[in-house]
Amino acid sequence: MPTPLPAPYFVAASSRAASLVGLDAAMLAQEDFVAAFTGNRLLPGSEPLAAVYSGHQFGVWAGQLGDGRAILIGDLDGPEGRMELQLKGAGKTPYSRMGDGRAVLRSSIREFLCSEAMAALGIPTTRALVVTGSNQRVMRENIETAAVVTRMAPSFVRFGSFEHWHYRDKPEQLRQLADYVIDTFYGTLRGTANPYKELLAEVTRRTARMIAGWQSVGFMHGVMNTDNMSILGLTLDYGPFGFMEAFDVNHICNHTDQGGRYSYANQVAIGHWNCYALGNALLPLIGTVDDAQEALDVYMPAFEARLDELLRAKLGLRSSQPDDRALFDGLFSIMQAGHVDFTLLFRRLGDLRVDAPESDAPLRDLFIDRAAFDAWALTYRARLRGEASEDAGRRAAMNRVNPKYVLRNYLAQQAIEQAQNGDYAGVRDLLAVLEQPFDEQPGKEPYAALPPDWAAHLEVSCSS
Ligand code: AMP
Ligand code: MG
Ligand code: MG
Repeated sequence: MPTPLPAPYFVAASSRAASLVGLDAAMLAQEDFVAAFTGNRLLPGSEPLAAVYSGHQFGVWAGQLGDGRAILIGDLDGPEGRMELQLKGAGKTPYSRMGDGRAVLRSSIREFLCSEAMAALGIPTTRALVVTGSNQRVMRENIETAAVVTRMAPSFVRFGSFEHWHYRDKPEQLRQLADYVIDTFYGTLRGTANPYKELLAEVTRRTARMIAGWQSVGFMHGVMNTDNMSILGLTLDYGPFGFMEAFDVNHICNHTDQGGRYSYANQVAIGHWNCYALGNALLPLIGTVDDAQEALDVYMPAFEARLDELLRAKLGLRSSQPDDRALFDGLFSIMQAGHVDFTLLFRRLGDLRVDAPESDAPLRDLFIDRAAFDAWALTYRARLRGEASEDAGRRAAMNRVNPKYVLRNYLAQQAIEQAQNGDYAGVRDLLAVLEQPFDEQPGKEPYAALPPDWAAHLEVSCSS
């Protein structure tokens, strides 16, 4: 059962998430809903539960983990299907271990904003419905206050949920879980010769596609432990995530991740590694190592095909050519050399005009080594001429895939500091901006700006 918090207050709600479960976001600010989504009052028919799971953390088997502070309160049907609702930070559960079962306002706002930002970017993710807070004190590095974020997904089953029963040597429970997931979410696999193998292949494919989506917007998850990997291929558990600003393929967004296991570059291989961990857990059901291996082999082709598709769209290319990879790699290498801002670069690339190099100034100015940019732009222009690309149409298409607004760390930090002082307008404004990441949004340009100097040393850790 959730543990109530004293005097809960409303912070923000997502109207888009609310519409997925047939709720009206304005209602969520009402006292009885605030009480319900803080865990102070049960909604009619709710039977709360916390789920057990295990997992590999930073590559090491961690044993039993489980919902240590998230409590499932039920599910609601909506226009796109059923959604489970989970209160994160609602108090201790049988799986809290040494933890207090709480989440702080800071991390709840981060999870809320990023879930909705990712959804708007078109990347598969769990959703966030509402954040409530309380003045109850919570000890982290500093004393902070408690909050609850209500998140939603068709299921919160993780790779680690399967690992749990496998490592516990409970084959019947393992099978029950796999059958539940197949029957509920992957029904079409039932008719195949080996549904467990196909489950692994399909989850592997979805994971690869999700990570291609991350790479394409410069998103770094930060804690890709197997207990944070969704069986539905959704981005799950927003902790020390980050969006790439000054480009560095080896960027580590999580201050706690000293070795860089979950750096931008490593996310791709780690996604595959995590699928192996799932495959290992499913092996008794799949039967042979060869079959499991075959299922896992879909990863790199699926990742590369999806990333190529996304990058072609980001560069405004309509056709596919054999040397596209070299064109992409060339761009990333000059971005790396100049530590160019990821979001700004792709957005400005849309302004390039094929026959007007003099119009490149704002784009070119992002590079210290202008000659390197000019050389790359020459190849790019030739490629565009090759498919008779037309400037205005290409720009419009590129602006639909290259966001102007992403959740830069400093933006989250500003909204959080305001909220910590009792003013939630910053969180709500930022949500509204992030809900339309591809639109110009006149008057909101400051939200697209490069990070200020004070943000250069912002550190995000696992503390939440
Ligand atoms: P994470 O690194 O966020 O994926 O969390 C790893 C595990 O620690 C999960 O099982 C969480 O439920 C648990 N956990 C994290 N923070 C707390 C907390 N404050 N109280 C109880 N359990 C927690
Ligand atoms: Mg987690
Ligand atoms: Mg977490």
